[in-house]
Amino acid sequence: MSNKNLSDRSQQAVWHPCTQMKQHENLPPISIIKGQGVWLYDSDGNRYLDAISSWWVNLFGHCHPYINSALNDQLSKLEHVMLAGFTHEPVVLLSERLSKLSPGDLGHCFYASDGASATEIALKMSFHYWQQCGLTQKTDFISLQNGYHGETLGALAVTDVALFKQIYAPLLRHTQHMPSPDWRNALPGESPKDYALRVANELENYLAEHHAHTAALILEPLIQGAAGMAMYHPAYLKRAREICDKYQVHLIADEIAVGFGRTGTMFACEQASITPDFLCLSKGLSGGYLPLSVVLTSPNTFQAFYHDKTSQAFLHSHSHSGNALACRAALATLDLFEQNNIIASNRAKASYLNQLTQSLQSHPRVKNFRNCGMIWAFEVITDDPDFTNTFFKKALDKQLLLRPLGNTVYFMPPYIINEDEMTWLVKNVALILDTF
Ligand SMILES: *Cc1c(COP(=O)(O)O)cnc(C)c1O
Repeated sequence: MSNKNLSDRSQQAVWHPCTQMKQHENLPPISIIKGQGVWLYDSDGNRYLDAISSWWVNLFGHCHPYINSALNDQLSKLEHVMLAGFTHEPVVLLSERLSKLSPGDLGHCFYASDGASATEIALKMSFHYWQQCGLTQKTDFISLQNGYHGETLGALAVTDVALFKQIYAPLLRHTQHMPSPDWRNALPGESPKDYALRVANELENYLAEHHAHTAALILEPLIQGAAGMAMYHPAYLKRAREICDKYQVHLIADEIAVGFGRTGTMFACEQASITPDFLCLSKGLSGGYLPLSVVLTSPNTFQAFYHDKTSQAFLHSHSHSGNALACRAALATLDLFEQNNIIASNRAKASYLNQLTQSLQSHPRVKNFRNCGMIWAFEVITDDPDFTNTFFKKALDKQLLLRPLGNTVYFMPPYIINEDEMTWLVKNVALILDTF
């Protein structure tokens, strides 16, 4: 089918996510027929460098031969079996490896299929834990301003992005949002660290008063993705851990976007040397191949549910929990980290890209240029009211997949991007910026 034909039919048959469908009248969806490495190919023979890893999920490029062959092997053995009453090798191996890789004594992997469900699981487990402990007043959650944790009703309640949330407010539980440590809000002359510590005091003041009815603080460690790749100093996480400990409040680390090397360490929490009570992972977990998410928790939490009574258990499930194919893709993804020493090789790539971006950093339209691990972001100074779409279209014309968040342009490339591709990316972004 031609690009046009497939695209027309998609607009009728498919209701696309996070999309005003009417806008497709002007810019129809692009039908992708093939992916290879960092490149996506459409049915008209155009290609696009996937500089945002297909909504932050892809780690090692499209159709990676090693992950493909692991999946082929798994397909010939077992595609799926229910995870209540049954188990299988991929889910056991994956849980053991995640437990070893993650900070502290986290383990006891509870699976779902998407990020929002991982958030739901962590919130429910936290609440339920306090119920089991007799602290039945602990029913509230707190989160950070501009935080994003998914869009199901429970996850949306702790999210603070008005565009996604406002209309549904009557359906949502009230959540108190703490000031964000996003360093763009620091006072002139105030360092990101000082700013992080200053807003951590406000967290402490809140919990000093409200800890008795607060179950958990949920946050995105180091980078608030949907907020526009807002970055903050790890000192905030360290203080938040201390404050949560002091006031008997769980700390839920939503590393759905930042986990698996995105911030330069395997998990962002490592940079603050903290262990959260719950660690939520998804997106890159399966290399971006298949829907899979997981919540890791501590032996202490696990024990609170370990009981003779069924009603004392965590009675939550998803049909595809621990899907064998998805777990196998995740195992292959972890193999690639080990075999190719990815954390170290990403450091070299990041420093190469940082050198290339000198021209962007000094571009008159660019503000707040920032980098953390394998994520780059900057604001574009523009009076185009439809900047996001304008930039997206101009990028496509230059064979780039880039989808700004408001006026924030960001790069979140697959880890296999090479020097030529990085050069191509930066050169074309500079050309696009010159047109604004
Ligand atoms: C993407 C994301 C989610 C939601 O994951 P879905 O798979 O889209 O439901 C939650 N938290 C963060 C930080 C995310 O980036």
